[in-house]
Amino acid sequence: MKTFNIAVLPGDGIGKEIMPITVELLKQVESGTGGYRLCFYDLEAGADLYRRTGEAFPEETFEAASRADAILLGAMGLPQIRYSDGREIAPQLDLRERLQLYAGLRPIKAIPGIPRILADPRAEALDLVIVRESTEGLFSYRNTGDEVDDRIARDTMVITRPVCERLFDFSFQLARRRKAGGKPGIVTCVDKANVLSSFAFFRKIFDERSRRHADIKTAYSYIDAMALRMVASPWDLDVLVMENMFGDIISDLGAALIGGMGMAPSGDIGDSHAVFQPCHGSAPDIAGSGKANPTAMFLSAALMLRWLAECHDVQDAARGADTLQQSVEAAFRAGELIPFELGGQAGTEAIYTAVRRQMDR
Ligand code: ATP
Repeated sequence: MKTFNIAVLPGDGIGKEIMPITVELLKQVESGTGGYRLCFYDLEAGADLYRRTGEAFPEETFEAASRADAILLGAMGLPQIRYSDGREIAPQLDLRERLQLYAGLRPIKAIPGIPRILADPRAEALDLVIVRESTEGLFSYRNTGDEVDDRIARDTMVITRPVCERLFDFSFQLARRRKAGGKPGIVTCVDKANVLSSFAFFRKIFDERSRRHADIKTAYSYIDAMALRMVASPWDLDVLVMENMFGDIISDLGAALIGGMGMAPSGDIGDSHAVFQPCHGSAPDIAGSGKANPTAMFLSAALMLRWLAECHDVQDAARGADTLQQSVEAAFRAGELIPFELGGQAGTEAIYTAVRRQMDR
């Protein structure tokens, strides 16, 4: 039986609150499904560790995480704890860059029962995926932008061919898997190719790679037009692929469409490593209050199981992913479990208990 080693990094703030219950659900799914084993090992990194030890992400912790089959991460960083030069502590970004996790997978899938921000009933079945390039683009100079004489500040956007080729292939393969499940099979390249040459290059490589995936349709959208479409008609979209900062912004917009940051899962995926974490941060304003919505973390764990199943061809792990996803959906379906984030009364424990109850059925 296949055993998957899972590195668990709860991190800071609400990360510490949503992680233990997620591991409990994963154990429950594993024992109910059978056919694979999960071996969890806890690792410490983040702002709180930095405050206590002066180190945010010790090298041995990085090494241990990189040896795992998958990494599950809560949230990292606290606004009041920073490096001496003022930078925020963000080991999750170090993981993305050092492990080359170029494909940021951000599913935007509505959960019926969660209050809809869009009145149109088609929003109830919203199901699109944003693939955010996560290692370069406008964020590649995040520590090295230059400033001249207090007069000019510059950051450079970097788009490279090898990363784009892998990113687009990933997006087309994703659209193919979704098409097999009844989705339209369309990848939309989102850019600003009418203004910046770096984006014209991005689009050129998209076109080149699309020829290798003739079964999948292609479409194009400038980022400004896409911002409008995400609000006006997101149900027409399937897979969207875009540069790092555009993806950062559009995925928050997408999260709003499905109920907020606490509902939005993500995976940062490379050729041989992957990190799964909710889209939100450590939410220090609600940490310790019991109000954190753990749903995005649960759904990120389901994404992890699905990715492991695909990489290692372990169908039981895919069944486990379905069980976890369906249990979350069933818990919310009646419309009575409304997270604090959405004006309701359901906190971390209540949401966990409701999902767990569905799983035990
Ligand atoms: P980062 O820059 O680290 O991504 P952020 O500045 O975007 O973080 P978050 O920590 O994501 O901020 O929090 C933004 C707001 O959303 C806060 O008011 C926070 O309380 C709320 N929030 C975030 N995650 C959740 C959650 N899981 N449940 C409830 N509220 C949340």
